[in-house]
Amino acid sequence: MMTITFLSSTIRKSLVQKLRTAVVASLAVGLVVGAPVYAQENPMNTSTQKAALPRVLLLATGGTIAGSADSRGSGAYNAGAIGAQQLISSVAGLGELASLSAEQVASIGSQDMTDDVWFKLAHRIQEAFDKHEADSVVITHGTDTMEETAYFLSLVLKTDKPVVLVGSMRPATALGADGPANIYQAVQVAVDRQSIGRGVLVVMNDQIDSARGVTKTHSTSVQTMQSPNLGSQGYVDLGHVRFLQPVQPSQLLTLPKAAPLPRVEIIYSHSNMDASQIEHAIADKAKGIILAGMGDGNTSKAALAALEKAASQGIVVVRSTRVSKGYVNRDVEVDDSKSGFVASMDLNPQKARVLTQLLIANGITDPVKVQEAFLNGH
Ligand code: GLU
Repeated sequence: MMTITFLSSTIRKSLVQKLRTAVVASLAVGLVVGAPVYAQENPMNTSTQKAALPRVLLLATGGTIAGSADSRGSGAYNAGAIGAQQLISSVAGLGELASLSAEQVASIGSQDMTDDVWFKLAHRIQEAFDKHEADSVVITHGTDTMEETAYFLSLVLKTDKPVVLVGSMRPATALGADGPANIYQAVQVAVDRQSIGRGVLVVMNDQIDSARGVTKTHSTSVQTMQSPNLGSQGYVDLGHVRFLQPVQPSQLLTLPKAAPLPRVEIIYSHSNMDASQIEHAIADKAKGIILAGMGDGNTSKAALAALEKAASQGIVVVRSTRVSKGYVNRDVEVDDSKSGFVASMDLNPQKARVLTQLLIANGITDPVKVQEAFLNGH
């Protein structure tokens, strides 16, 4: 628009008119062919654009973001008590951003998240996109296991349309409730065309994180969602969506026919560690074991010997770390090649578990192939 500044006012008016006509025409084409209409930066606020607002499907699952106060005490609340419609209507200005429809998929604290709810979400999102019912999806979710749901969905959804998970650390009834602003920002990101092709995202407290990178890092702070190994993808400021990183490569696996996913246990390593937890997992017929190891995915000699035994029986053994930051690399202190183990790279134990479950469900159990999958998506 800089050049227009130097033109006479008549020419300027005519150019602006032409530009408006072009925008209206392109929106009309989008509507005719059913193409999504995503928000641009600094959109012109014409009535035609309002009529063509992007369609966002909000799927509610519960969590603190849908929490209401409980008489037990000042900080007490019940997660998931507020319904999807009520959540939307509590956020001023949402209707200016998008044409929203809401569905209640579950009403739980995310500590109770199940494979059944994951499958419901995956099927509903895929259906909404395949049938052109929505241009983007926003999922409200408890923060405790948000990273696992986000990562699961990122591995199984076949779409380049934006899917954004959002939660809050404070219930709606708390002083400084963060839910409404987080929902507003999640919808902002969901309707922004820069979000296309970025896989599943998490938006909380102004920040945008990828499903692969994000993890909950603080038990109470609103700035809890961080990506210690990959860094955040971007942020939202005063109505702008700003991505700092290029689009990341993604990985796609087939969604199994039905829940549950194969049983994969996480075993937490500690000093004076014996083999008993690993022996239990083998006896309980776990299909995979994720070691939340010390340092770079290490554990005691007794535990390593038991893990070798598990691997020799065809159980997928993945070494991750209980440390909050850093990669677990192959063959450093532990001889993965000899023992038949897999190194989790950047994935924390709970994410490594999700990937391992889906790989096993897809028939991928050979440690070399499993390792390739852990290296994929970087
Ligand atoms: N434990 C609940 C959940 O994850 C509340 C925590 C939260 O939403 O932040 O759903």
